[in-house]
Amino acid sequence: MRVVSTIQEVREQVKAWKKEALSIGFVPTMGYLHEGHGSLITNARQNNDKVIVSIFVNPMQFGPTEDLASYPRDLEKDSAFCKSLGVDLIFHPEPEEMYTKNFCSYVDMDVLTKELCGLSRPLHFRGVCTVVNKLFNIVKPDRAYFGQKDAQQLAIIRRMVEDLNMDIQIIGCPIVREEDGLAKSSRNTYLSQEERKAALCLSRSIKMGQALVEAGERDAEKVIARMQEEINKEPLATIDYVKCVNGLTMQQIEHIEGPILVAIAVYIGKTRLIDNFMME
Ligand code: AMP
Repeated sequence: MRVVSTIQEVREQVKAWKKEALSIGFVPTMGYLHEGHGSLITNARQNNDKVIVSIFVNPMQFGPTEDLASYPRDLEKDSAFCKSLGVDLIFHPEPEEMYTKNFCSYVDMDVLTKELCGLSRPLHFRGVCTVVNKLFNIVKPDRAYFGQKDAQQLAIIRRMVEDLNMDIQIIGCPIVREEDGLAKSSRNTYLSQEERKAALCLSRSIKMGQALVEAGERDAEKVIARMQEEINKEPLATIDYVKCVNGLTMQQIEHIEGPILVAIAVYIGKTRLIDNFMME
């Protein structure tokens, strides 16, 4: 497994692989890898000749008051993890490699980015779309793997690839959870012992909402109210949003039908966590 930090090194490697007609699976991450990332990598490993993982804490997708500086990083551990899963190349650029001095081109998206996390993180998805676009141009993958954990991000990437005619297959992978239900996240490391227990209100609320919809509840407001109630029982939790949206457009719905996404963002202390469920 190679670990490289320049765009040129990736390009040369990719060129050599393409010459041999080898397919490339790509998993973009911000590092501090866990089994959630692992499931994406394993999926990529099974379906491609070569697997590239990028590890880049993208400054452009963080707001001015967010956790860019404190975001956890551990390249050594991540490298060992990737190696154990059969990754061929890690791309780990410095911000200066990705954003040169006069950088001023962005990939922006309307509609889908204006709801859910886009409301509390206004420039977040512009940063995500821009960096994913750049990474796609560098890695030129056949398939790229994203987690359902970030459901809005996955919907946005799918839309971007379709709207901008990118010849890349986007594969969505299910949420990987801790044994007690908490969705795995690099940000879980911020939680104190007490907060870690409190964080279970997210998965409890998701489980409850999902059970209600599965039992036939079609009134989005009722589902949301019950889910909010569950979260509000937890004193350390502050709701950012609990919403029911169309699974493709991310627009709020009142009546549950077709593909839907029920998504939540909750602060546990200072840590903002997300979770969701989807239904066809
Ligand atoms: P991140 O490093 O948090 O930017 O995540 C990189 C990729 O891993 C994204 O596509 C995430 O959706 C995915 N991912 C993160 N956590 C999980 C999880 N618990 N289950 C499935 N995918 C995940």
